[in-house]
Amino acid sequence: MTAWPQLIAKLNELADLSATVALLDWDQQTMLRPKSSASRAHQLGTLQTLVHERLTEPALAASLAAAEKEGSGPEPFVGEVGTALLRETRRLIDRATKLPSPFVKELAETTARAFQVWQDARQASDFAMFRDDLARVIDLKRREAAYVGFTASPYDALLDEYEPGQTEAMTAEVFAGLRQENVRLLKEIQAVEQPDTAFLHASYDKQQQFAFTVDVLKALGFDLEAGRQDLSTHPFTTSFSIQDVRVTTRVYENDLRSALFGTIHECGHGVYEQGVNLALERTPLVSGTSLGIHESQSRFWENVMGRSTPFWQHWYPRLTQAFPTQLANVSAHQFVRGINAVSPSFIRVEADEVTYNLHIILRFELETALLHGRLEVADLPDAWNAKMQELLGITPPTAAAGVLQDVHWSTGAVGYFPTYSLGNLYSAQLLHAIRQQFPDFDQRLAQGDFQFVLGWMREHVHQHGKVYAAADLIRRITGEPLNPAYYTKYLRTKYAALYPGVASA
Ligand code: ZN
Repeated sequence: MTAWPQLIAKLNELADLSATVALLDWDQQTMLRPKSSASRAHQLGTLQTLVHERLTEPALAASLAAAEKEGSGPEPFVGEVGTALLRETRRLIDRATKLPSPFVKELAETTARAFQVWQDARQASDFAMFRDDLARVIDLKRREAAYVGFTASPYDALLDEYEPGQTEAMTAEVFAGLRQENVRLLKEIQAVEQPDTAFLHASYDKQQQFAFTVDVLKALGFDLEAGRQDLSTHPFTTSFSIQDVRVTTRVYENDLRSALFGTIHECGHGVYEQGVNLALERTPLVSGTSLGIHESQSRFWENVMGRSTPFWQHWYPRLTQAFPTQLANVSAHQFVRGINAVSPSFIRVEADEVTYNLHIILRFELETALLHGRLEVADLPDAWNAKMQELLGITPPTAAAGVLQDVHWSTGAVGYFPTYSLGNLYSAQLLHAIRQQFPDFDQRLAQGDFQFVLGWMREHVHQHGKVYAAADLIRRITGEPLNPAYYTKYLRTKYAALYPGVASA
């Protein structure tokens, strides 16, 4: 066993370099002052090039090949953990080496420009400004898929980067059922009396909101001795090691939901990163196994727990203590109805649980059509508006509130959107499993017990990092593959209780 120590040393070094890139990026999004951005771009560029060089150097490939021949490595890289390390390393190297350097450079430059152009186009709400850059990105993504390789669809090669093993066909099948059920539930909800949401937009002191989110963060299991929460324009989670995880939130004075649910969402991501087995530190097995499974944790924290009635049985008295005048005439039940109000809206990131997946399905249908050449980029705004009408019954008044709202395509993230909905689906399947072990799930939440959820997720999901691929993990935990029926049942049961007149499951 001689190849393994060498391979692990190289992977440790690579992990340190990648963590440093992530740290500079976190700093850029939370702390950096305007005049410092040019120097930061150089630092990030240099380090990213270094990471790519190390990842594609022949010495690493040789170490990997030798370790693959030896099979099992030293503790803890024996058995399936060893197999997983070899698999993930192979995956990283293959993806990096299959793309020729000039192509990588062209993609980086094109998306950097497209991102800038997208920002201006969104500001001006003018799709024509962005059209040609988006067409170039889509064309490059087709070429990327060809370099990476695929059997059924070029989309599979792109989706695989975010959700290993998931394909366009699998996604289309799951989404077809989800689409039908979500549209039906939305129509039923719209036909009955709507909750009051005015109280959510009273004036809430920003510092007090932030302090409250820190209390929630701690209570839901985020270790503030191994991470921290800061402010950023868009909430996100990043980690530099298992014991250095950063979450962010954003606070709006006139929308109580933003900081609260931003924090709870990122907390779900954060505890996943903090919960990986420490023995996997500084290897490619650290971090969540796929974006869909990662999102299953954030959605479990944010929606399954954080927007539930039992959760607020515990937290609402605390919230009214922090904001006694703003919530003076709002009962806990009214509050829960308010934070779960369903209403078709233009902007995905502000969507409720019922309409959210329809936003994702729209993007999935459009990006696959673009990639396959069934839809021209020039026709995208019309196609977007037609699908909004079809799925949500509304038409965006401007391109900024429609086709230009998301950053993803400008950065080349095609195949990313489905992972958000897969996360929702996985979260409900996990809820079904956890309820079998804890039939008193609701009572425990109502008593402020969240440790049992964290413990269960640690045992079944977090500790494994990337040892099991998403499909294997979900089958190990629940005994079956991804099954969207759990999610549609979860949604219907929840909303039937919140909206009198809506049929329950
Ligand atoms: Zn998320």
